[in-house]
Amino acid sequence: MAASLHRRDFLGSAAVLAGGLGGCQAPERGLEGGFHGIALERGHALRDRPAAGIAPARVRRTRVLIAGGGVAGLAAARALRLRGIDDVALLELEDEAGGNSRGGAVGGIACPLGAHYLPLPGEAASEVQDLLEDFGLRRRIAGRWQVDERHLCHSPQERLFFQGTWQEGLLPVQGVGAATLAQYRRFAGLVEALGRAAPFTLPVCKAWGQKRPVSPVHQALDALTFASWLDQQGLDDPPLRWYLDYSCRDDYGAGSARVSAWAGIHYFASRHGFHAPGEDAPEREAVLTWPEGNGWLTRRLAAPLQAAGQLHTGCSVLRLAEGRHGVELDAFDHASGQVTRWQAAQAIVALPVFVAARVLQNPPDFVRQAAQRLAWAPWLVAHLHIDAPLQDRPGAAPAWDNVLFADPTPGGLGYVDAGHQRLDPRPAPTVLSYYQALGDLPQARQRLATRPWTDWAEPLLNALALPHPDLRERVTRLEITRYGHAMSIPLPGTLGFLSQIALQAAPVKRSVLLNGERSAVLPVPATARLRFAHSDWSGYSVFEEAFTRGHHAGLGVGLG
Ligand SMILES: Cc1cc2nc3c(=O)[nH]c(=O)nc-3n(C[C@H](O)[C@H](O)[C@H](O)COP(=O)(O)OP(=O)(O)OC[C@H]3O[C@@H](n4cnc5c(N)ncnc54)[C@H](O)[C@@H]3O)c2cc1C
Repeated sequence: MAASLHRRDFLGSAAVLAGGLGGCQAPERGLEGGFHGIALERGHALRDRPAAGIAPARVRRTRVLIAGGGVAGLAAARALRLRGIDDVALLELEDEAGGNSRGGAVGGIACPLGAHYLPLPGEAASEVQDLLEDFGLRRRIAGRWQVDERHLCHSPQERLFFQGTWQEGLLPVQGVGAATLAQYRRFAGLVEALGRAAPFTLPVCKAWGQKRPVSPVHQALDALTFASWLDQQGLDDPPLRWYLDYSCRDDYGAGSARVSAWAGIHYFASRHGFHAPGEDAPEREAVLTWPEGNGWLTRRLAAPLQAAGQLHTGCSVLRLAEGRHGVELDAFDHASGQVTRWQAAQAIVALPVFVAARVLQNPPDFVRQAAQRLAWAPWLVAHLHIDAPLQDRPGAAPAWDNVLFADPTPGGLGYVDAGHQRLDPRPAPTVLSYYQALGDLPQARQRLATRPWTDWAEPLLNALALPHPDLRERVTRLEITRYGHAMSIPLPGTLGFLSQIALQAAPVKRSVLLNGERSAVLPVPATARLRFAHSDWSGYSVFEEAFTRGHHAGLGVGLG
């Protein structure tokens, strides 16, 4: 899909936006680029082609099937392995496992295709903590947990391009007035008070899994949009509202006018915190990151499966049927063009809910309803290979995460620098991964599927030229990854709806032995032979939700 875009196409608007700064003459060379990373056509083929028409070329048997190799599917496979269940096959549509958390490369430089960081997990995310220990990322030294610093985001972590200069951190601070600061403090106080009134557990599936009904505080917040709630509180300051909207788009793919107030508060109260300037706050939130983003984690999760011949990539699940004595799954192998029929005792469905509803022969009511009820945000990630460090506006030094206040690109969230974790200080080519959450853009999915890559490239290059006047001279290649249904958006009512499904999930009475210790098994949405594990069942998508759901789906297999 590679193509080229002539720099002169940009020059008119660029000259206006860059305001004559920089003074470099752009060389007349074409910019190579295209779409990469996600096989949109494979998903569309699934939608457009009736599965019944394809006869299977062979039949294979295994004990447990896993449909979908994102974080949830890989976590399920790991849990099965820890239980000593080795007769497993995982079917994944893409040519590499990892789903939204895959790594890639542009011009030979590793970069994240989607998810790019994992905050240090809190107490409730004990399963993720165990994973980090497995991977050697944290160790107990003299009775205290220590994280391997090489994997923590190096300083400076983040900066904001605000009023023509870069400032440290993402909350607009420099040059804002007393009224803005007062609203920051008030919002911080509200987040703290709400967190005290009813804990915001991350992963939320942990709270639901323990069959705790949703508290009245959370129910009230789930009933309206975050923007309406902020209006009710009289929180109308533009820099505050921009920052809160940015945060919602960053985690949920859609802004404060669409997500619920529960989601808006959950973002801060569960994981990131909200600290008004001058408050006693940690210097920065500790996050784990790698040049290839969370692909570092998913490649390690996939490696044992690959070694055992249990990972079947490039295989689309077309049909999944649950019978009295087992499950049957038809998978289309994109390399051979053949369908394999798999038979197993149980299956873990780690597919997005709308895909599960499509491939299941007789989807249970809760799957059908969830597929109708949930909404998904499309995303775009543009990877810009640059041949040398960019010119920069004054202010804070280049950081890992670089965000533009009121970015003119639709859904623009700024870029992360894949070279940031390098230890060698010498200037070198790198890849900047620029994120756009498109949940608020009308017809975004259709536009993603039909518009040429150059239509997406132009606005983002114009925007990034604001802080980096020589951007066009430095970009040698631009690759775009498109996600049609990246993540479910926690709209008002989503929490209530999904928590009901969780509360109705059949309890798993037993615990299992893992590494010699008894481990409780949380219930997940399930039927007699199918267990459902995907972040969609939490109503929003982060690593901790996907991993915990997959882990418990794997633990619960065969326990009734
Ligand atoms: C651009 C982007 C950035 C993100 N950044 C972060 C971040 O920095 N930190 C964070 O914690 N989270 C981030 N997320 C959220 C991310 O979605 C979760 O962290 C996690 O990867 C979700 O895993 P999952 O298994 O629930 O879903 P998915 O990743 O959706 O996995 C589902 C899998 O099923 C496969 N599949 C679909 N249909 C079929 C079929 N018919 N047959 C076989 N396989 C099929 C898919 O290819 C995919 O591999 C980001 C998401 C996106 C899109």
